[in-house]
Amino acid sequence: MKIDYIIVGLGLAGLAFAEELLHANKSFLVFEDDSQTSSLVAGGVYNPVILKRFTPVWNAKEQLEIALPFYEKLERKFNQKFDEKFQTKKAFKSIEEQNNWFAALDKPNLTDYLDSIIDTNKYQGVIGDLGFGNVKETGRIDTLTLVESYRNYLQKEHKIRFEKFDYSQIVFQESTISYKELTADKIVFCEGFGMKQNPFFNQLPLNEAKGELLIIHAPDLQIDFLLKSTLFVLPLGNDLYKVGATFNWKDKTSTPSEEGKNELIEKLQKVLDIPYEIIDQTAGIRPTVKDRRPLVGVHSKYKQLALLNGLGTRGVMIAPTVAKQLFQHLEHQQKLDAEIDINRFSS
Ligand SMILES: Cc1cc2nc3c(=O)[nH]c(=O)nc-3n(C[C@H](O)[C@H](O)[C@H](O)COP(=O)(O)OP(=O)(O)OC[C@H]3O[C@@H](n4cnc5c(N)ncnc54)[C@H](O)[C@@H]3O)c2cc1C
Repeated sequence: MKIDYIIVGLGLAGLAFAEELLHANKSFLVFEDDSQTSSLVAGGVYNPVILKRFTPVWNAKEQLEIALPFYEKLERKFNQKFDEKFQTKKAFKSIEEQNNWFAALDKPNLTDYLDSIIDTNKYQGVIGDLGFGNVKETGRIDTLTLVESYRNYLQKEHKIRFEKFDYSQIVFQESTISYKELTADKIVFCEGFGMKQNPFFNQLPLNEAKGELLIIHAPDLQIDFLLKSTLFVLPLGNDLYKVGATFNWKDKTSTPSEEGKNELIEKLQKVLDIPYEIIDQTAGIRPTVKDRRPLVGVHSKYKQLALLNGLGTRGVMIAPTVAKQLFQHLEHQQKLDAEIDINRFSS
């Protein structure tokens, strides 16, 4: 069978690239082996502000301009809600932090997003004597439902195989590749942390970070905003909240750990003072890059092989933009942004 593309991996990156292909009427087949969970467990939050330092997220405005209509289009396609918009409230830990907030109000890329009035309301169960700073234009994509819906859709269209892609089976022809009974013009690898197994790209500097989350049931907590403190508390409805996340650079498994759970419980004590019950715990590995920029581009020797990876901690915002750029690069020879191009690591 001859197709235009093979995509390896159907997380946020693979999904965004598949949308580009569908839009351009290109034929493709996805391979997905359930080895990684990042897009399934992610908080799914989009927020144009880094609340640790009160600085703008890299290219946030441009990314949101592409990402929000992208998810809206998928909502229409599947007749399902994925995007829930809400306010984020940053709980101030010190007067110094409050002062930093006021200083940040005047920064050119932040004025649109930060509220100048400090919220001094009390919220039952939330520890926060120094008030809250409101961040506008934030929300959450329900990435689990989105990825599952997308996989089901591809399955119905016979465009996905739930099996491991075996790198040793690629045979290179002059301008195409063959893989088992398939011939394709190109393969786009969207494997997240799975890239470490990919002999063609595993020399690139992924500085992956495991993250763990809890789902808690807290009926006494009645918040409809994302609470950002030492960790985030994200309302899911029905008195359920997602709490996270940890950062662990040593453990390379996607399995929830006791250590992760204890860390989250300990931090939660400083954020909430109401009873709660832990309902679930999940974990995944963020495909984070040494320089905190995505990994996008074409293999230096095998031009049929391309990479879409390195979405790090912000896959929701970044994926649609970089998928578009990679598609334009592969199909229309448009130059990639130097900041995301994997060539930046070639010596
Ligand atoms: C705890 C946690 C919280 C997070 N919170 C947020 C958040 O709030 N907002 C946000 O924007 N981002 C968040 N992220 C980051 C986000 O999850 C990632 O940026 C994004 O999901 C990465 O998507 P991806 O498609 O590149 O990788 P993945 O989601 O890892 O997808 C890669 C896919 O490739 C498949 N695969 C790999 N190798 C093979 C192979 N050989 N054959 C077949 N299939 C293969 C895997 O099974 C997987 O499905 C969070 C991550 C974690 C872990």
